[in-house]
Amino acid sequence: MRIGVPTEIKTDEYRVALTPAGVRELVDHGHEVLIQAGAGKGSAIPDAEYVEQGAEIVADAEAVFAGAELIVKVKEPQPSEVALLQPHHILFTYLHLAPDSELTQGLIDSGATCIAYETVTDPRGRLPLLAPMSEVAGKIATQAGAFMLEKPLGGRGLLLGGVPGVAPGKVMIIGGGVVGLTAAEVAIGMGAETYIFDRNIDRLRELDFLLNNRASTVFSTTLNVERMLSEADLVIGAVLVHGAKAPHVIKREQLKLMKENAVLVDVSIDQGGCFETSRATTHTDPTYEVDGVTHYCVANMPGAVPITSTFALTNATMPYVVKLATEGVEGALQADPGFLAGLNVAAGKVTYEPVARDQGREY
Ligand code: NAD
Repeated sequence: MRIGVPTEIKTDEYRVALTPAGVRELVDHGHEVLIQAGAGKGSAIPDAEYVEQGAEIVADAEAVFAGAELIVKVKEPQPSEVALLQPHHILFTYLHLAPDSELTQGLIDSGATCIAYETVTDPRGRLPLLAPMSEVAGKIATQAGAFMLEKPLGGRGLLLGGVPGVAPGKVMIIGGGVVGLTAAEVAIGMGAETYIFDRNIDRLRELDFLLNNRASTVFSTTLNVERMLSEADLVIGAVLVHGAKAPHVIKREQLKLMKENAVLVDVSIDQGGCFETSRATTHTDPTYEVDGVTHYCVANMPGAVPITSTFALTNATMPYVVKLATEGVEGALQADPGFLAGLNVAAGKVTYEPVARDQGREY
């Protein structure tokens, strides 16, 4: 099969969907790989390294889409990329369709087969292609939140870890999955007082064990959330209902419970955001303020650290890319129900129930 990798064009996105190691695996399996010139530059991978492993470098995205059947990307296709999709294409990338009706319609109209990284599951029901980026985003969430708490950046003017004789700040994490755990690890490492809220009691048990009780786990009810909101300096939103639009765990009227110039980081923004007042921002202009509370809602947080993120992502995606190329889309998806769970749009229809439900579409 011919596999194509375009340069990512979302704002401040520097990751690339395939590394030279991936090219090597595909070429060894008898496939051809087209890489857009400069696609790896943001991740410090020169074109020559791809060529050394057998890839062909092509000039632009048009040439990638025209020459390849399987298009492998990182972020959801932007409008100029959707326009290049044809019915014979297989698109394998993050899609986050539930909150994005326009993109969903574009993919339906293209007739392409679209598989989303973030809804592929493993035999234990986990999300193996979301997890590595959630690990990165969780760490950035605490780091960015701590930075935004500094006074010159509009924050409260508080050091999360405190110093001897001065109490640390309080970090509240809502959603104790992969993002929540890694955000907590960094918060604990900084010396902050850390609280993790979740609705899954088994997960809270696991978190107590994993973190050796260095964070407090809290069952997430409206009352518990409101009580903690008035004390928190940094609140990190990290809830996920697989493939669906994020529930609003903090409403606008609850912002008045918060301390002045406290910080909200909404990691769930790629699924529409889990705070009512969230709207997507970029690394270039990451924050805005609502009712005296700083909001940080960058939808591609791992894009800021591409040298880490590209390798973490492709370590996880590469075996799936090889399967798609070698077994074909039908063979690969039929052999693995978890891989099939990644199929979001095919032959002009939404094929993933939570997206259809959230958008009131036929399924
Ligand atoms: P996950 O499935 O590992 O964890 C989600 C957790 O949320 C689960 O433990 C679940 O029990 C909990 N939860 C669900 N509903 C809840 C509610 N109402 N109250 C409290 N807890 C609730 O997911 P994850 O991998 O940690 O990802 C979290 C979010 O971060 C996703 O939306 C993901 O797409 C997003 N993400 C964003 C970026 C970014 O750049 N902004 C990067 C990576 C991941």
